[in-house]
Amino acid sequence: MSSLFTDAKQRLERALKYVSMSEDAIEHLKYPKASLTVSIPVRMDNGSLRIFQAFRVRYDDTRGPTKGGVRYHPNVSLEEVQSLAFWMTFKCAVLNLPFGGAKGGITLNPKELSRMELERLSRGYIDAIADFIGPDVDSLAPDVYTNSMIMGWMMDQYSIIRRQITPAVVTGKPISMGGSLGRDTATATGAFYVIETILPKFQKLPQNTTVAVQGFGNAGAWIAELLFTAGYKVVAVSDSQGAIYNKKGLDIPSIRNFKEFHRGIRELYCKGTVCNISDTEVLTNQELLTIDVDVLIPAALENQITEENMDNIKAKFIFEVANGPISSAADETLKARGIHVFPDILVNAGGVTVSYFEWVQNRSGLYWTLAEVNQRLKQKMVEETEQIWEIAQQQNISPRTAAYVHALNRLGEAINAKGTRDYYINGQMK
Ligand code: NAD
Repeated sequence: MSSLFTDAKQRLERALKYVSMSEDAIEHLKYPKASLTVSIPVRMDNGSLRIFQAFRVRYDDTRGPTKGGVRYHPNVSLEEVQSLAFWMTFKCAVLNLPFGGAKGGITLNPKELSRMELERLSRGYIDAIADFIGPDVDSLAPDVYTNSMIMGWMMDQYSIIRRQITPAVVTGKPISMGGSLGRDTATATGAFYVIETILPKFQKLPQNTTVAVQGFGNAGAWIAELLFTAGYKVVAVSDSQGAIYNKKGLDIPSIRNFKEFHRGIRELYCKGTVCNISDTEVLTNQELLTIDVDVLIPAALENQITEENMDNIKAKFIFEVANGPISSAADETLKARGIHVFPDILVNAGGVTVSYFEWVQNRSGLYWTLAEVNQRLKQKMVEETEQIWEIAQQQNISPRTAAYVHALNRLGEAINAKGTRDYYINGQMK
């Protein structure tokens, strides 16, 4: 098996030392349940035909139907999708959601496609995987470079195929098509609750905490805004084109408005309004990761902090809003250097939690207010963060290993409930 997935599974190996789990359950969790690779033919606007490679992986469904986002990115591969599906399995268990883990993706640069080509591709993806998914089998959600409109097309296409409106097959839909209030901000809001639960344990208050955020998309821009609003000093943000820095703090709402208008924060490089009102410095994406801040929030893609740059990281706390932004090798070094890393499977789990709320609302037909959604989200995020913190303190392990231990206890219990080696041989459930 190739490296990203092997790397992902090293986290599992590390955590296994701290749990008592049957060998059957361990073996079970090492392999994805099912992986589907499809080719999607799309008629392009100029009349030509292009074939896109796409994937859907259902990693484990012991705790419930699988759930996971769909990514549109040039680097999407089967291996990446398997790793992301593996993380989803643990994330759903960390938050005690009645779901297993899945993920999907299409290998493409979405910026090169017109809106109509994107719609044809998104509907083609559903045509290709319709027999592999369903509200009680596997449901989809947004991820990198997919949004609520794309989720709406996907739900619509599935409903056309099944000849019945099936909103619960996709979450993260537009509100008017059965989406949940608060889903668009859920990943960031969940991360915010984790940060607000953890930092006071270190006597860190918003006004004396500096923050850098890598990635200014759905997750990154919202977490930057929530922290800014709560009084934290967000000094640097970046997107795929570069980073900006101001040691006095950036005006995040203006940058969000600016980015929405101009599509890239590069436009801010001393041409735009924000530069005119502050002495903003331009940094590279790599430089953003190594600036001297209290809190670093990777919110872009995986493998951003690796053996290459791990010795240069100066942040004291890292909250992983992206999936897998730190390689397994770098993880060990950061720990040895006393940097507190809070893992993706907890920090960004607000997204799947509100996706679960959306699925529940779609199935019951009863819709919640934004206040209800956020109150339930807060309760879950704070409760699970405290439990993971407790495990980490008691067993003297990193928050990441503690999160895996927490998830493994739940996954192990579910896998064992179907019978273990001991049960069949000795009549004991162990
Ligand atoms: P998005 O497409 O909305 O945004 C991605 C952002 O990252 C964009 O601003 C892009 O310009 C930027 N980016 C890409 N490469 C970069 C680089 N090298 N340096 C700096 N910035 C770069 O995606 P998103 O939904 O915000 O997802 C971001 C991360 O959060 C992913 O790892 C995703 O898996 C994770 N995540 C998202 C959700 C969700 O609900 N959206 C939930 C859980 C986890």
